[in-house]
Amino acid sequence: MPHTLFISDLHLSESHPHTAAQFLRFAHEVAPKAEALYILGDLFEYWAGDDDLDTPFHRQICGALSELAIGGTRIFIMHGNRDFLMDEALAAACNAQLLNDPTSIDLYGQSTLLTHGDILCTGDSAYQQFRTTVRASDWKSQFLAQSLSQRKAQIEQLRTQSEHSKREKAMEIMDVSNEAVHTLLRHHDYPRLIHGHTHRPAKHLHHVDGHTCERWVLGDWDTRTNALRADREGISWYSPQ
Ligand code: MN
Repeated sequence: MPHTLFISDLHLSESHPHTAAQFLRFAHEVAPKAEALYILGDLFEYWAGDDDLDTPFHRQICGALSELAIGGTRIFIMHGNRDFLMDEALAAACNAQLLNDPTSIDLYGQSTLLTHGDILCTGDSAYQQFRTTVRASDWKSQFLAQSLSQRKAQIEQLRTQSEHSKREKAMEIMDVSNEAVHTLLRHHDYPRLIHGHTHRPAKHLHHVDGHTCERWVLGDWDTRTNALRADREGISWYSPQ
């Protein structure tokens, strides 16, 4: 049956070869059967800029996606909070199309809204402030004006800081806020919602203004392949045959 796959939060990096191998297997064996593959953010553990494409690791990942696209599976990539510097050269290397966050699609006749999910974590005001800063085009161009090694060092530093602050934050402020979810659903005429980011895979039902909306949360890839499969009958968790 024609179907579409959704994944997010793979956090691919050379230091986690097991996850990379899982992803390559998925790209070679599972995804070619799908009409389309949506990667909803944090494909990479971090992305320092498109001039970092030329490493054997990045070439291997992008090459696998490009092959998949040549085989007929359309590929869409959304930015996550870690790889928000992915740009057109990365998209071209993967034969993929970059998506805005959020993006609304017609998924087998049902209006579906896609987002990475970090915009919904409004309880974490420090993070939201940081997000606004680093997503501004002047911040990005200043950052990208540095050498690749300077950028990587700065990212390392930011990551250490964020690990420290995460430990001090309550679990609930790092989850999505119901209010933010409802505002988004209202704004987009009560679609079905798919997102990642929180690493809390689940299907939720939201009752908003007399509408019932499904919210599917993708899981990370730390321990296993985590994907959603959609076809004209609905959405389900991908499970290996
Ligand atoms: Mn994320």
